[in-house]
Amino acid sequence: MQCSRCSHLMSISDEHVAEMDLGQSVTVKQLNCSSCDKCVALSFSDAWNTPEDILTDDTERNGWFEVSSPRDRVVCYALSQIMYRQFEVPEEEREEAIFDQPDPTDIVMIFWLKGQAIGFYTIKPKGSLVERTMEHYAMHTLDTAYVRSVKRRQGYGMRMLQNITSSYPGNDIGFSKPISFSMWKVLRKYLQHNADYRNKFWEIEGTGGEGNQKLIWYAIKFQDKKKKTLHNE
Ligand SMILES: [Zn+2]
Repeated sequence: MQCSRCSHLMSISDEHVAEMDLGQSVTVKQLNCSSCDKCVALSFSDAWNTPEDILTDDTERNGWFEVSSPRDRVVCYALSQIMYRQFEVPEEEREEAIFDQPDPTDIVMIFWLKGQAIGFYTIKPKGSLVERTMEHYAMHTLDTAYVRSVKRRQGYGMRMLQNITSSYPGNDIGFSKPISFSMWKVLRKYLQHNADYRNKFWEIEGTGGEGNQKLIWYAIKFQDKKKKTLHNE
C-alpha cells in the first residue's frame, strides 16, 4: 500500500501495525508509514482500507447520525485520530485540542454528506460520571467537535449547534474548555440569531459544577466591549 502523505510504499508487516481498542469490543488495526509515521491504512473486519475509504459509505446517508454500529466507531476513529490529529493537525494557538477517544457513555454524532463522513461531535450527557474525580456533568456538554478542513465555512458548525439544541430543546448546554477560535465564531453567530439560547450556553471547566460555568453570551459581549474600549483609547 502507498502512503498518501509521502508516497512511500508499505507492505503490511506486524512491525508497523498497531491494534487500537475503540471500546465496546471494537478493535481496529492501524498501519503506519515507516517513512513519515502517518496512517496509511486501517483494517476492520480483515480488509485494509485507506482512512479516506473508511469515511465513505455506500448507503448515501445524509445528515446527522448517532454512532451505533462497530463500523461507525471506526469512522469516528478515522475522523478524530487520523484526519484531525495526523492529517489536519490541530493548531494549539487557535485553542484546538487533541481529542481523547469517546467514553462508552458519550453520545457520538457523525455528519454524513451523500455517504461521506465529514465531521462529528461528542456529548457528555448530563449526569454522566467522571470516575477520576467522581463528579457528574451538570448539563449536556459538547466535549469534542470537528469538521474536515475542506468543508469548513460552509455552515456545518451552525448545523451542529442546531442539531444539539433540537436534541435537548430548552436545556442548558455546556461547551468544554478550551473552546476553539472557530467554535467561538459559530457560537457568536448562533446566539445572534437565537436569542432564546443566550442564557443557556455555558463555557464549562471540568464537569461544569457551580463556579465552573460562564455564560457564553456574556463572554462575547465582554469581548466586544473590550474591543470597543481599546478602539476608543
Ligand atoms: Zn508516509
